[in-house]
Amino acid sequence: MRLGIDIGHNCPPDTGASGFGNEDKMNKAVGEHLIAMLIKAGVDVVDCRSPNADSVDFSLWKRTAIANTNGCDFYVSIHHNAGGGAGSEVFAVSDAGRVVAKAVLNKLCGLGFKNRGVKFRKFFVLMRTLMPAILIECCFVDRQSDVDLWNQIGAEAIAKAIFDGLRESLKF
Ligand SMILES: [Zn+2]
Repeated sequence: MRLGIDIGHNCPPDTGASGFGNEDKMNKAVGEHLIAMLIKAGVDVVDCRSPNADSVDFSLWKRTAIANTNGCDFYVSIHHNAGGGAGSEVFAVSDAGRVVAKAVLNKLCGLGFKNRGVKFRKFFVLMRTLMPAILIECCFVDRQSDVDLWNQIGAEAIAKAIFDGLRESLKF
């Protein structure tokens, strides 16, 4: 199992949302814990972060290119949401992606985040990856109660929930 992990944004001008929390920092904290857990479990991880880019489009393209050229079996993009909602949602555009999205979402909502469902949206990283992919929106950075819960749970436990959902559905 070769898993591409994309820690969202963190590549100016591709930067995340901000509110009561900072998306870049939250993506990085959760993503780095997740990568460490996967490696420890013997999963072949490809870190799909874009080291630098002069545009958001190029940053996104680089992430998918890293996954595609490394022949990843599955791709996971880690994000935190903004826009006034609350809770967790996971996006997928393929049937194989939806199965994993559902498992990950169930684990995240088990931590106390509101379940916003598995959703379909043609995000660049979901459309341009050659393997099944999901994009996780762990919670909302501009919702105080979500950020309070996030801080209370901690990045490591959030990563563990994602890890458990991936392990259960991808069977590694
Ligand atoms: Zn994002």
